[in-house]
Formats: sequence, structure tokens, C-alpha cells
Amino acid sequence: MPELPEVETCRRALDRWTRGRRVDRVEFLDGRSVRDRREDRPSTGSEAAARRVRELVTRQSPVATQRHGKRLLWTWPGGCLLLHLGMTGKWTRLPSPFEKLRLHLDDGSIVRFADPRLLGGVVPCSHAEGPRWLSEGLGPDAWTEPLPRLSGSRPIKVALMDQARVAGLGNLHAAEALWRAGIDPRCPSNEVSSRHDALAEGVREQLRLALDELGSNDEITYVEEAGAANPFPVYQRAGEPCGRCGTRIARMMQAGRSTYWCPGCQR
Ligand SMILES: [Zn+2]
Repeated sequence: MPELPEVETCRRALDRWTRGRRVDRVEFLDGRSVRDRREDRPSTGSEAAARRVRELVTRQSPVATQRHGKRLLWTWPGGCLLLHLGMTGKWTRLPSPFEKLRLHLDDGSIVRFADPRLLGGVVPCSHAEGPRWLSEGLGPDAWTEPLPRLSGSRPIKVALMDQARVAGLGNLHAAEALWRAGIDPRCPSNEVSSRHDALAEGVREQLRLALDELGSNDEITYVEEAGAANPFPVYQRAGEPCGRCGTRIARMMQAGRSTYWCPGCQR
């Protein structure tokens, strides 16, 4: 599932694949992925939005990509595309049975948006709307901005996943960051404030390692995909010994999601 490192890796790949290239044509295979507004739900496809995307990219070269949390903004000479990966979306150069749209580039290559569950999408917008929509409703970016102090009595893992407080962490990287920081995921947020530096360092280290790991490949692979490697110390490792203290990794439910953690060294 895409979180900040996967989205940032996707941004870098889009840049690498398309910089200096021109789009000859765009092909829509499933119009439901192209929507009018950021809040539109899957299957709210819009023909008007598809026409706008076609106008924006055909015979044009992209100008820049930006990321905030898990959102991407792709700027073109006539406007922007806000990109969401949702739960399963990815931009790829590999053919996929789940392709929703294809950009045919002037060097003969094809960049594809594939999305099995249709929760991701593309939203055309103006140069004025784009940067606003990119960060609207989101807290500071977890990679490029300092981690804010999280107040309140919610468990720290749940608070870290609240995009309005800090943007970019999801279930996997929040749990891994807490393992790195040695903090119990159930700890109330306000009680972690005395260990804020350790938490910020855990988040930073987790995102840095994930970006390095993902960046060694041309394409993103999600750990949930069949056959994908799991490079993470606690994620989906219930029952295995902790790499730091040897205690068995545990699993519990928090806010409807599985949290993996080490009862031995996370206090
Ligand atoms: Zn441990």
C-alpha cells in the first residue's frame, strides 16, 4: 500500500521516465480513474476531466513533479494533474492487466497508471488549484518538514497515521518508525512528548531506509504484492524474534488496522 516512500519513489520515477520527453497521445482504458475533484470517489469517472487531461498532456512535456504526504502534483504547461495512488495504484512502465491510462511518449516508451482497486486516480486542475489541492487538509510532510508534537491521549501509532496531523505515514511505516524509536505503539501521544526527539529520529530513519530500499529499483513494488520481499523488521512478522532483543514480535488491532510491534524493547 503506498505511503510516503512509495509515493516519493513513484514521483522520482515519473521524473526520470518523462523528463525532456513529449507526450504524443494519451489513451484512456478505464475512465473511472479520471475525476473532476480531489474528493471524488472511485467510479466517479468524468468525461470532462478526461478531455481536460488530454488537452493538458497531448504534445506537451511535463514541467515538474511535487509531493506532499501521499499526494503527487504533476505540473504541465497548461495546468496540473493531481495524482493519487490510493491503495493499490502505481505509475509503471510495465504492462499490467489493471492499466487505467497510458501516456505514449515521443521516444516510443509508454508510462501507465495501473490500479486494481480503483481507489487512486488523476484529477486535472489549474496552476492555481494544484499547489493548494496538493496539501489541502494535510499536516506537515513527514519527510521534508519537522515532525510536529502530537498531543492528545490517542495511541501514538494512531496519531502518526492521522494525515491531518502529519502527512505521509501509514500503517506500515508508522509501526516501523515506532520500533526504531523503541516506543510502545499504545503509548498516549501526550506521554511521548518527552521522547519527541527519539520519535522524530525513528520516523526520519524509517523513511530514509525505505527510500533507499525502494530507490534501488526502477519500479515500485508493494510488500503486499504476491512474491514481494519483506525488508521490514516488524511488519507482518508476528511470532518471529525481534532483531534487536529477540522477543517475539506481536500483533494487535489499533483503529481497525494490524499493528506489529515488539513487547520486549518498545516501551
Ligand atoms: Zn525487541
